[in-house]
Amino acid sequence: MSATSPQDDASLRLGEAKRRIDDAIVAIVDVESIPLGAALGRVLAHDLISPIDVPAHHAAAMDGYALHSGGGSGTGASRRRIVGRALAGEPYTGSVEPDECVRIMTGAMMPRGCDAVVPQEEAIAHGDEVEFPGSVRVDQHRRRAGEDLARGAVAIERGRRITPSDLGLAASIGASTISVLRRLRVAVFSTGTELRALDQVLEQGSVHDSNRYTLIGMLERLGAEVIDLGIVGDDRDALEAALKHACSGPIRADAVITSGGVSAGDADYTREVMRNTGRVSFWKLAIKPGRPMAFGSIDLADGHQGRSALLFGLPGNPVAMMVVFHALVRDALLKLMGARVDPLACLQLVCDTRLSKPAGRTEFVRGIAFRAEDGWHVRPTGAQGSSMLRSMSQANCLIVLDHDRGDVMAGEIVEAWPFEGLV
Ligand code: AMP
Ligand code: MG
Repeated sequence: MSATSPQDDASLRLGEAKRRIDDAIVAIVDVESIPLGAALGRVLAHDLISPIDVPAHHAAAMDGYALHSGGGSGTGASRRRIVGRALAGEPYTGSVEPDECVRIMTGAMMPRGCDAVVPQEEAIAHGDEVEFPGSVRVDQHRRRAGEDLARGAVAIERGRRITPSDLGLAASIGASTISVLRRLRVAVFSTGTELRALDQVLEQGSVHDSNRYTLIGMLERLGAEVIDLGIVGDDRDALEAALKHACSGPIRADAVITSGGVSAGDADYTREVMRNTGRVSFWKLAIKPGRPMAFGSIDLADGHQGRSALLFGLPGNPVAMMVVFHALVRDALLKLMGARVDPLACLQLVCDTRLSKPAGRTEFVRGIAFRAEDGWHVRPTGAQGSSMLRSMSQANCLIVLDHDRGDVMAGEIVEAWPFEGLV
């Protein structure tokens, strides 16, 4: 990753850029213990082992009657006396003879000796007796102790980003606190002399800084702790100060993400300052939108009491910035967080529109996936200029067209990343 590396001017395949970033990442290792209720989205530091069987005892899976099946292929029709009842949390502790049964509710502990539950719909009550017209199989409608999770088994694997179901699973084994990796600290700032804060008047030629808001939103969804360093003009000293500030003193970011200034524009000093502050490569990615990008690390001279931070310099165009984030930065940050990086879920959709695309670059098209009579289809959102954020906001997926693929004909299948997940 030297400043003069030959890749500076070549067009870099997305896969190759991914590999280079991947090679440079060392995951954080600092562990902290936190209450389960605060763990959503955090990365589990160690395998979570269950200290108990879940369920802890054999239990009824239906409302009905618990009884002895008679083992083997089970009994035929029978009539039995009700000797008690078992509710969830209120077990029946007496004995049950083969000609007897216990009224039981879902989740209640199975009475000793009973190995089957007959649902109430399949039983006919006659006062304190019940008739079971069908045959009864051993284990029917019975949850076995430990069938969900056996004592000593791994409930949740390390590296997992805790989901709502994981919270419930951890709670079911009584894990009131869990060990997670410390949150990733990411400093962000926007570069560009034309950028204005939201409460500033837009004089001629200036624009509001939108990237920082998008970026912070994406980072928060990933579970990172974001340090917002605002807007930095295209000014050497200010840029250098901002980069150093981000990884020293109280901020000490693990990663710094900037937008703007990485293409070779005249007034963009970012490239030069980044080169001087660390070991940074500038790539022309073979993707659309989002060609320019910087990647490397910021190294502080001794005495700054800082540490090196990874640097991602994203393109300034709002859509290009988002695309490069999804395509390259997301996985890199997950790896840095110590999280297991699962590939993004990909939809296979029928593309209703012809898309022209040259082979030789990966393209991302803002798409709207919709359900038609014969299944799921997708159409592009319309104009795809890399500054057009509205079409990103209208889209619900990104159509991903591989490097080697050429034009897409209407009716062909394309892959797309959905923007929203289920939970
Ligand atoms: P640059 O990558 O710095 O050459 O910027 C490319 C385009 O994106 C220019 O039109 C910029 O004004 C615009 N741009 C850069 N940064 C931002 C930002 N933070 N918010 C909105 N637009 C931006
Ligand atoms: Mg700029």
